[in-house]
Amino acid sequence: MNNDPVKPILVLGSTGSIGTQTLDLMSDPASGLRVAGLAANSSWELLRDQVAQTGAPFVALSDPAAADALRPHLSPETTLFSGPEAQLELIAAADYEVAVHGVMGRAGLEASFALCKAGKTLALANKESLVIAGDLLIDAIAEHGGRLIPVDSEHSAIEQCLRGEDLACIRKVLLTASGGPFRETSLADMENASQEKALAHPTWNMGPRITIGSATLINKAFEIIELHHLFGLDRDRMEVVVHPQSLVHSMVEFVDGSVIAQMGPPDMRGTIHYALHHPDRQPSKLAGFDLQQFSQLTFEAPDFERFPSLELGFRCVEEGGTSGCCLNAADEVAVGAYLAGTIPFGDIVRISQQVLDERPTNQPDPGTLSEVLEADRWARSLAEGIVASKTASTT
Ligand code: MG
Repeated sequence: MNNDPVKPILVLGSTGSIGTQTLDLMSDPASGLRVAGLAANSSWELLRDQVAQTGAPFVALSDPAAADALRPHLSPETTLFSGPEAQLELIAAADYEVAVHGVMGRAGLEASFALCKAGKTLALANKESLVIAGDLLIDAIAEHGGRLIPVDSEHSAIEQCLRGEDLACIRKVLLTASGGPFRETSLADMENASQEKALAHPTWNMGPRITIGSATLINKAFEIIELHHLFGLDRDRMEVVVHPQSLVHSMVEFVDGSVIAQMGPPDMRGTIHYALHHPDRQPSKLAGFDLQQFSQLTFEAPDFERFPSLELGFRCVEEGGTSGCCLNAADEVAVGAYLAGTIPFGDIVRISQQVLDERPTNQPDPGTLSEVLEADRWARSLAEGIVASKTASTT
């Protein structure tokens, strides 16, 4: 147990959306938090500024060339790790109480396991780790006595609604979805939707992949899988509700018919603040209830026909095994191809669906991380093959 009155925080993905918002909260001298270490992929200039502002004793850059560029700007008191193992070396070296893991996608998987093994508080924004290897990750947290706090607004909301409650008393969890930029767009118009439109999220300000994921609603499919792993819920106790204002972050309905909702402005800093201080409630300067903003809350059922990705999320919960891993791999490849301009918007979810359809379902569940990574490679190469065949047929 660390007796330092100032809580040391490790931030992975410090130059990304979650990382910069975490450091913004920590820049308040009254936060009671200090930086124990920072990790980024290649944005060395921003990392240099973050080190100067926070005095981080340990930093990591996965890109060796970026690390070489940063090195001359660091004081001798700062230790720099570089290369593919840099994140893991940082996790081993830094003395921290809470790790905020804001790396996007599959690239954050090994770090998630290393953080679980440290037995501390893992504030997890890298939901893909749960999508890819949720069973193994939840086991690792339990085995090493750590704590997992979701840094995803919906799951943080549910965690807050469930404080002091018995999970057996949940009738169902109502996972809210903004509906994204195409909530009212027809299937035909979505088919060839431009990047400009797909990247224009109506309420949340996030990184590009998760924003595309909020347009296809595959992000909600991931959140269904995340919800399943975090709270042990099956399909019959999970429901998606479209709530365009993004003010109700999710709700829990209990067996007695009582419904508890967690609300707040759509600002990820609220979710991050909660995770940084969990289980305490600490004061913040963040906004709360505003009569003007909260005067109209609307809810609607999701359209499974226009958003087939939602069914893929429920399907992965039912199929288990490597299905979530394959879904994530296929989506990473497909979103990359869409952002590169090689496939139309409509193909993104079709590719994930095809990969899931072709996944062998007669294999035992993965028991190790290396088995998960093997499934990831298989799904990626299949998705890349599908992208290549589509590109070939249109040129
Ligand atoms: Mg979310």
